[in-house]
Amino acid sequence: MKKSIAHTTTPAVLISALSGALLESLWPKRCIICGEEGSVLCECCEHHLDFLDRWSACPRCGSAYGLRWCTECNSYTLHKRNLTELPYDAAASALRFSSTSGALIRGYKDKGEQELSDYIARFMYQCMHPEWHFDAFTYIPASKNALKRRGFDHMQRIGKTLEHTSSIPLLSLFERPKHADQRTLSQTERSLNAACAFTLHDHCTVPRSVCILDDVITTGATIAAAAQCLKQAGVGTVYVLTCARV
Ligand SMILES: [Zn+2]
Ligand SMILES: [Zn+2]
Repeated sequence: MKKSIAHTTTPAVLISALSGALLESLWPKRCIICGEEGSVLCECCEHHLDFLDRWSACPRCGSAYGLRWCTECNSYTLHKRNLTELPYDAAASALRFSSTSGALIRGYKDKGEQELSDYIARFMYQCMHPEWHFDAFTYIPASKNALKRRGFDHMQRIGKTLEHTSSIPLLSLFERPKHADQRTLSQTERSLNAACAFTLHDHCTVPRSVCILDDVITTGATIAAAAQCLKQAGVGTVYVLTCARV
Protein backbone atom coordinates (compact mmCIF):
# COMPACT_ATOMS: atom_id res chain seq x y z
CA MET A 1 0.00 0.00 0.00
CA LYS A 2 1.24 3.51 -0.84
CA LYS A 3 2.24 5.55 2.20
CA SER A 4 0.65 8.99 2.41
CA ILE A 5 2.85 12.10 2.60
CA ALA A 6 1.52 12.70 6.12
CA HIS A 7 3.02 9.36 7.18
CA THR A 8 6.44 9.86 5.51
CA THR A 9 7.06 13.54 6.30
CA THR A 10 8.42 14.04 9.80
CA PRO A 11 8.22 17.45 11.54
CA ALA A 12 12.02 17.76 11.23
CA VAL A 13 11.88 17.24 7.44
CA LEU A 14 9.04 19.75 7.16
CA ILE A 15 10.89 22.38 9.22
CA SER A 16 14.04 21.86 7.15
CA ALA A 17 12.08 22.22 3.87
CA LEU A 18 10.30 25.36 5.09
CA SER A 19 13.50 26.99 6.37
CA GLY A 20 15.17 26.10 3.04
CA ALA A 21 12.33 27.79 1.13
CA LEU A 22 12.50 30.84 3.40
CA LEU A 23 16.28 31.16 2.97
CA GLU A 24 15.90 30.75 -0.79
CA SER A 25 13.35 33.58 -0.96
CA LEU A 26 15.45 35.87 1.25
CA TRP A 27 18.83 35.01 -0.30
CA PRO A 28 18.25 33.34 -3.66
CA LYS A 29 21.04 31.20 -5.04
CA ARG A 30 23.15 33.03 -7.59
CA CYS A 31 25.59 31.73 -10.16
CA ILE A 32 29.09 32.22 -8.76
CA ILE A 33 30.33 33.36 -12.19
CA CYS A 34 27.62 35.55 -13.76
CA GLY A 35 25.39 36.25 -10.74
CA GLU A 36 22.17 34.98 -12.37
CA GLU A 37 19.55 33.79 -9.88
CA GLY A 38 18.55 30.12 -9.72
CA SER A 39 21.61 27.99 -8.97
CA VAL A 40 25.19 28.29 -7.72
CA LEU A 41 26.44 27.58 -11.26
CA CYS A 42 24.11 28.32 -14.17
CA GLU A 43 23.94 26.00 -17.20
CA CYS A 44 25.39 28.64 -19.51
CA CYS A 45 28.48 29.27 -17.34
CA GLU A 46 28.97 25.53 -16.81
CA HIS A 47 28.82 25.01 -20.56
CA HIS A 48 31.46 27.70 -21.14
CA LEU A 49 33.95 26.45 -18.57
CA ASP A 50 37.34 25.63 -20.06
CA PHE A 51 37.27 21.83 -19.78
CA LEU A 52 40.48 20.01 -20.67
CA ASP A 53 40.20 17.41 -23.38
CA ARG A 54 41.46 14.06 -22.13
CA TRP A 55 42.28 12.98 -25.69
CA SER A 56 44.74 15.82 -26.29
CA ALA A 57 46.17 16.09 -22.76
CA CYS A 58 49.44 14.48 -21.65
CA PRO A 59 48.57 11.04 -20.23
CA ARG A 60 51.40 11.35 -17.68
CA CYS A 61 51.17 14.85 -16.20
CA GLY A 62 47.77 15.92 -17.57
CA SER A 63 48.93 19.15 -19.27
CA ALA A 64 46.49 20.44 -21.88
CA TYR A 65 48.17 19.56 -25.21
CA GLY A 66 50.87 17.09 -24.20
CA LEU A 67 49.54 13.92 -25.85
CA ARG A 68 52.35 13.64 -28.43
CA TRP A 69 55.06 15.90 -26.96
CA CYS A 70 54.74 17.36 -23.51
CA THR A 71 56.46 20.60 -22.57
CA GLU A 72 55.57 20.10 -18.90
CA CYS A 73 57.06 16.70 -18.03
CA ASN A 74 59.99 16.25 -20.43
CA SER A 75 63.45 15.62 -18.92
CA TYR A 76 64.54 19.26 -19.28
CA THR A 77 61.47 20.62 -17.43
CA LEU A 78 61.73 17.98 -14.73
CA HIS A 79 65.43 18.78 -14.25
CA LYS A 80 64.49 22.42 -13.61
CA ARG A 81 62.18 21.15 -10.85
CA ASN A 82 64.97 19.02 -9.34
CA LEU A 83 63.21 15.82 -10.46
CA THR A 84 64.48 12.95 -12.60
CA GLU A 85 60.96 11.62 -13.17
CA LEU A 86 57.43 12.46 -12.11
CA PRO A 87 56.77 11.00 -8.67
CA TYR A 88 53.26 9.90 -9.70
CA ASP A 89 52.09 7.54 -12.45
CA ALA A 90 49.47 9.71 -14.13
CA ALA A 91 47.55 12.92 -13.56
CA ALA A 92 44.38 14.48 -14.93
CA SER A 93 42.56 17.76 -14.35
CA ALA A 94 39.02 18.74 -15.23
CA LEU A 95 39.60 22.40 -16.13
CA ARG A 96 42.24 24.78 -17.31
CA PHE A 97 42.80 27.39 -14.60
CA SER A 98 41.25 30.67 -15.76
CA SER A 99 39.22 33.57 -14.40
CA THR A 100 36.05 31.45 -14.54
CA SER A 101 37.44 28.23 -13.06
CA GLY A 102 39.26 30.39 -10.50
CA ALA A 103 35.93 32.02 -9.56
CA LEU A 104 34.36 28.57 -9.24
CA ILE A 105 37.09 27.27 -6.92
CA ARG A 106 37.28 30.47 -4.84
CA GLY A 107 33.47 30.53 -4.60
CA TYR A 108 33.57 27.05 -3.15
CA LYS A 109 36.60 27.45 -0.89
CA ASP A 110 36.37 31.02 0.31
CA LYS A 111 32.88 32.39 -0.33
CA GLY A 112 30.84 29.76 1.47
CA GLU A 113 29.18 28.19 -1.60
CA GLN A 114 29.72 24.63 -0.39
CA GLU A 115 27.06 23.37 -2.80
CA LEU A 116 29.66 23.89 -5.57
CA SER A 117 31.50 20.83 -4.24
CA ASP A 118 28.96 18.60 -6.02
CA TYR A 119 29.69 20.30 -9.36
CA ILE A 120 33.46 20.19 -8.86
CA ALA A 121 33.35 16.53 -7.80
CA ARG A 122 31.30 15.70 -10.91
CA PHE A 123 33.77 17.48 -13.21
CA MET A 124 36.66 15.62 -11.58
CA TYR A 125 34.90 12.26 -11.76
CA GLN A 126 34.16 12.75 -15.45
CA CYS A 127 37.80 13.45 -16.32
CA MET A 128 39.16 10.36 -14.57
CA HIS A 129 40.74 7.98 -17.06
CA PRO A 130 38.73 4.75 -17.41
CA GLU A 131 41.95 2.73 -17.25
CA TRP A 132 42.83 4.06 -13.81
CA HIS A 133 42.26 1.39 -11.20
CA PHE A 134 43.08 2.15 -7.59
CA ASP A 135 42.18 1.10 -4.06
CA ALA A 136 41.45 4.46 -2.43
CA PHE A 137 41.16 8.21 -2.81
CA THR A 138 43.04 10.50 -0.52
CA TYR A 139 43.30 14.27 -0.49
CA ILE A 140 45.70 17.11 0.16
CA PRO A 141 44.53 18.34 3.54
CA ALA A 142 43.90 22.03 4.12
CA SER A 143 46.48 23.82 6.24
CA LYS A 144 45.47 24.48 9.85
CA ASN A 145 45.05 28.19 9.11
CA ALA A 146 42.81 27.52 6.09
CA LEU A 147 40.75 25.03 8.07
CA LYS A 148 40.24 27.59 10.83
CA ARG A 149 39.34 30.31 8.33
CA ARG A 150 36.89 28.23 6.27
CA GLY A 151 35.53 25.86 8.88
CA PHE A 152 35.76 22.86 6.57
CA ASP A 153 38.32 20.92 4.57
CA HIS A 154 37.42 21.65 0.96
CA MET A 155 39.12 18.61 -0.61
CA GLN A 156 37.83 16.21 2.04
CA ARG A 157 34.30 17.29 1.17
CA ILE A 158 34.87 16.73 -2.55
CA GLY A 159 36.52 13.39 -1.72
CA LYS A 160 33.43 12.27 0.19
CA THR A 161 31.26 13.00 -2.85
CA LEU A 162 33.68 11.08 -5.09
CA GLU A 163 33.67 8.18 -2.61
CA HIS A 164 29.88 8.11 -2.75
CA THR A 165 29.79 8.35 -6.57
CA SER A 166 32.47 5.75 -7.28
CA SER A 167 32.21 3.41 -4.24
CA ILE A 168 36.00 3.78 -3.90
CA PRO A 169 36.88 4.60 -0.26
CA LEU A 170 38.28 7.96 0.78
CA LEU A 171 41.17 7.73 3.24
CA SER A 172 42.71 10.55 5.21
CA LEU A 173 46.39 9.62 4.83
CA PHE A 174 48.33 12.87 5.03
CA GLU A 175 49.33 14.87 8.01
CA ARG A 176 50.44 18.38 7.23
CA PRO A 177 52.82 20.14 9.61
CA LYS A 178 52.52 23.89 9.96
CA HIS A 179 54.34 25.62 7.11
CA ALA A 180 54.14 28.74 4.98
CA ASP A 181 51.17 29.28 2.64
CA GLN A 182 52.23 28.07 -0.85
CA ARG A 183 50.50 31.01 -2.54
CA THR A 184 53.00 33.52 -1.13
CA LEU A 185 56.10 31.65 -2.38
CA SER A 186 58.18 31.55 -5.58
CA GLN A 187 58.46 28.29 -7.58
CA THR A 188 61.79 27.30 -5.97
CA GLU A 189 60.53 28.23 -2.51
CA ARG A 190 57.37 26.20 -3.15
CA SER A 191 59.39 23.10 -4.02
CA LEU A 192 61.49 23.40 -0.85
CA ASN A 193 58.45 24.21 1.27
CA ALA A 194 56.38 21.35 -0.15
CA ALA A 195 59.20 18.81 0.06
CA CYS A 196 58.90 18.68 3.84
CA ALA A 197 55.16 19.28 3.89
CA PHE A 198 53.73 15.79 4.28
CA THR A 199 53.94 12.80 6.55
CA LEU A 200 51.45 9.96 6.82
CA HIS A 201 49.15 9.57 9.81
CA ASP A 202 50.45 7.08 12.36
CA HIS A 203 48.90 3.61 12.22
CA CYS A 204 47.36 4.12 8.77
CA THR A 205 47.38 1.11 6.49
CA VAL A 206 48.80 2.15 3.16
CA PRO A 207 46.86 0.87 0.12
CA ARG A 208 48.63 -0.52 -2.95
CA SER A 209 47.29 2.19 -5.24
CA VAL A 210 45.97 5.64 -4.43
CA CYS A 211 44.45 8.62 -6.25
CA ILE A 212 45.38 11.98 -4.66
CA LEU A 213 42.80 14.77 -4.90
CA ASP A 214 43.64 18.48 -4.94
CA ASP A 215 42.00 21.66 -6.19
CA VAL A 216 44.62 23.22 -8.49
CA ILE A 217 47.99 22.12 -9.85
CA THR A 218 50.09 25.28 -10.04
CA THR A 219 53.78 24.39 -10.05
CA GLY A 220 53.10 20.76 -9.16
CA ALA A 221 55.34 21.00 -6.08
CA THR A 222 52.65 20.12 -3.55
CA ILE A 223 51.39 17.13 -5.50
CA ALA A 224 54.95 15.93 -6.17
CA ALA A 225 55.76 16.06 -2.44
CA ALA A 226 52.56 14.20 -1.55
CA ALA A 227 53.14 11.54 -4.22
CA GLN A 228 56.77 11.08 -3.10
CA CYS A 229 55.56 10.59 0.45
CA LEU A 230 53.17 7.82 -0.68
CA LYS A 231 55.76 6.10 -2.87
CA GLN A 232 58.28 6.12 0.00
CA ALA A 233 55.62 4.48 2.19
CA GLY A 234 55.30 1.65 -0.34
CA VAL A 235 52.32 2.69 -2.49
CA GLY A 236 52.84 1.10 -5.91
CA THR A 237 50.67 3.31 -8.11
CA VAL A 238 49.82 6.95 -7.49
CA TYR A 239 47.34 8.90 -9.60
CA VAL A 240 46.58 12.60 -9.27
CA LEU A 241 43.17 14.14 -9.92
CA THR A 242 42.58 17.89 -9.65
CA CYS A 243 39.80 20.31 -10.45
CA ALA A 244 42.07 22.64 -12.46
CA ARG A 245 45.63 23.10 -13.63
CA VAL A 246 47.54 26.24 -14.52
ZN1 LIG B 1 26.28 31.89 -14.76
ZN1 LIG C 1 53.28 15.76 -19.50
